[in-house]
Amino acid sequence: MAMNRIQFQRGLSMPEFAKRFGTESQCAAALEAARWPNGFSCPRCGGAGHCVLRGGSCKVFQCNACRHQTSLIAGTVFQGTKLPLTVWFLAIYLISQAKTGLSALALKRHLGVSYPTAWLIHHKLMRAMEQREERYVLEGQVQVDDAYLGGERTGGKVGRGSKNKVPFVAAVSFSEEGHPLRAKLTLVPGFTLTAIAQWAKSNLAPGSTVLSDGLACFNAVIDAGCVHQPTVVAGRKPKDLPEFKWVNTVLGNLKTSLSGCYHALAFRKYGAQYLAAFAYRFNRRFDLRTLNARLLLAAVACSPLPQRSIRAADVHC
Ligand SMILES: [Zn+2]
Repeated sequence: MAMNRIQFQRGLSMPEFAKRFGTESQCAAALEAARWPNGFSCPRCGGAGHCVLRGGSCKVFQCNACRHQTSLIAGTVFQGTKLPLTVWFLAIYLISQAKTGLSALALKRHLGVSYPTAWLIHHKLMRAMEQREERYVLEGQVQVDDAYLGGERTGGKVGRGSKNKVPFVAAVSFSEEGHPLRAKLTLVPGFTLTAIAQWAKSNLAPGSTVLSDGLACFNAVIDAGCVHQPTVVAGRKPKDLPEFKWVNTVLGNLKTSLSGCYHALAFRKYGAQYLAAFAYRFNRRFDLRTLNARLLLAAVACSPLPQRSIRAADVHC
């Protein structure tokens, strides 16, 4: 991986961010542009003709054709929020520019909101990233490995016997030149033939070539029309083999990103979001400057998530 190219790329600076998104009206204009890049479109009938009714500080749009009224934030991940848009935009900025991710606790300090509020913002934005990641499958050559949250590689108790370990498949596609392309980190019920067949059908394009170690369940990728190339070595974990360089690098980065911050129990409940948020960032690692705008688009495209659907925070860092 060309790490320098990634580490030294120009992000969106704090003064630049403050200049562009420092006021409520700037954020509202950016949100409107992200939601309707080609101008207003009625969520009910698709009509473009509309008038704007001012309801407090939040713009309300009324469709000329069907009279349906919608606010700027209705139907997005921001729906129902009482927070100023400037707080949400700052959260999007901080999360998109933080190299190894940001905890809800760090977000609480930066935003000056309560921990439950920061936790909810964090989870809603992680869900937006997760929905974005679900649109992609891996193709071509793909390295896969079995891994565990709260297990031997990502902190928490060591060993496969730990009852809190949460199994997931780590997969990284790479180019013919051997450069990593995209990563997918997906929770699975376990490492069984059935679970891996199902995983492969949802996450791999047919015709992909899957490189794995000798773990038998990975044979099931054949069910998804993929070619399986297992590397069997003495001792089951060929961590040092070049065939698994990228998947091991990704797992190492994940460990750094999650180090010590999340209780193992949280992984069972929210592991999918943590993994998707990590993959989201990894898959856009060359685009630090545009990540802020992309995350805003993801948030606008994400359907509303009532608090009860995310569940209240019961595990703290
Ligand atoms: Zn309409």
